[in-house]
Amino acid sequence: MRNIYNFSAGPAMLPEPVLAQVGAELTDFCATGQSVMELSHRSATWRSVMEETEARLRSLMQIPDHYKVFFLQGGASSQFAMVPLNLMHTSGKADYVLTGQWATKAYQEGARYGTVRAAASSADRNFAYIPPLSPEVFDPDADYVHICMNNTIYGTRFRAIPDTGTVPLVGDISSCILSAPLDVSRFGLLYAGAQKNMGIAGLTVVIVREDLLGRARNDCPAMFNYQIHADHGSMYNTPPCFSIYVMLLVLRWLENTIGGLENMAHINEAKAKILYDRLDASRLFRGTADIADRSWMNVPFTTGDSRLDQQFLREAAGAGLVNLSGHRAVGGMRASLYNAMPVEGVEKLVECMSGFEKEYRMER
Ligand SMILES: *Cc1c(COP(=O)(O)O)cnc(C)c1O
Repeated sequence: MRNIYNFSAGPAMLPEPVLAQVGAELTDFCATGQSVMELSHRSATWRSVMEETEARLRSLMQIPDHYKVFFLQGGASSQFAMVPLNLMHTSGKADYVLTGQWATKAYQEGARYGTVRAAASSADRNFAYIPPLSPEVFDPDADYVHICMNNTIYGTRFRAIPDTGTVPLVGDISSCILSAPLDVSRFGLLYAGAQKNMGIAGLTVVIVREDLLGRARNDCPAMFNYQIHADHGSMYNTPPCFSIYVMLLVLRWLENTIGGLENMAHINEAKAKILYDRLDASRLFRGTADIADRSWMNVPFTTGDSRLDQQFLREAAGAGLVNLSGHRAVGGMRASLYNAMPVEGVEKLVECMSGFEKEYRMER
C-alpha cells in the first residue's frame, strides 16, 4: 500500500488493485508475449477487451439497448464542439445551464455553431449553487439542453435531472460518472473524460440515444461525427487502447470488489458526509458551496484567510495528503473524493483538519 492520498480533481487516484494489475501484466498481456500497449487494435485479443469494456459499462450503468457507447479521444472538451456539430440540426438553437467553468466553456463552444442561450446561471454567486429549473425555463424549440451534472471546480451537483420535455438533455458527467446510479434514459447524450472517475486521460466515453445519430452538419469533421464512430465500433482510427484497458480494470473492480453502483453510492455518500460534518462543525474551515447542492465528489473549502490556507496545505502534504489546493477560481482547498479514494483517506484528512484547527486556535 502507498501512504499517499491524492485528492486531485483529475487526473485522479486509481484503485490500488488496478495499478497492481497494470504493473503485473505490463509486458505480457493475456499470454500474448506483448504489452497491451503493443497489441494490434484489429487483433482478437484487443477486440475482446473492447467488447468486455462496453458490456461492463452497459451493465453497471444499465444503459438501454437503444443507446450507443463510444470510446473516443479528445477529452470531454472535444465534446463541447461535437455535441453542437451533431445535434444542432433542426432549429440551430440550444439551451445551456451555466453552473461553472466547464458548463460555460461548453456554451461558448456551442456559440460557434448556432444560437445558444443561457437558460439559467449561477454566475451571480460564483457558481456556489445549482439554479432552480422548472420546465418553463427551457425553449421547446431548442435542439438540446446542456447541463454539467457535477461541477468539479465549485463542488456542486444536480440532485435531480431537469425535465426538458421532448428536448434531448445532454449531460457532462466527467466528474461523477460511475459514482452512483444514473437514469440514462432521461438523457439524449452523456459524456465524460475518463481521468476523473474511471481511468486515465486520453479516453472520453459518449453514450448517445440512437435516434440522435446521423444528422451531423455537412462540415462536421469525420473524427467529430458520431455516426462514423457508430459505423466503426469506435475504431474508425486507432482507439486509445491503453486508456480503454485501464478503464476495463476499473469497471471490473467496481463490479467485483465494490459490488456495483448502489454500493459505490453508499460509500461515496459516507465519505462526503465525514468531510462535510467536519466542515459544518469547524470554527475555522467552511465549505464554499450551498449545502443543498453539495457534490459528493469535489469538496471546496477554505479558512477565509489565504495565508492560513497555504499553511494548512503544507501540513496536509506533510501528512501525505496531496493535491488539496483549490482551483484558482475558488481559492482555498478542494478535496476530490472520487471512487478510488478510500474512506481512510477522508478520515486522515479530517484528522489533519482537526489538528490544524486546535493548533491555530491555541496560537490565537
Ligand atoms: C475535467 C472536466 C472537463 C474537461 O475534461 P478534459 O477531458 O480535460 O477535456 C469537462 N467537464 C467537466 C465537468 C470536468 O470535470
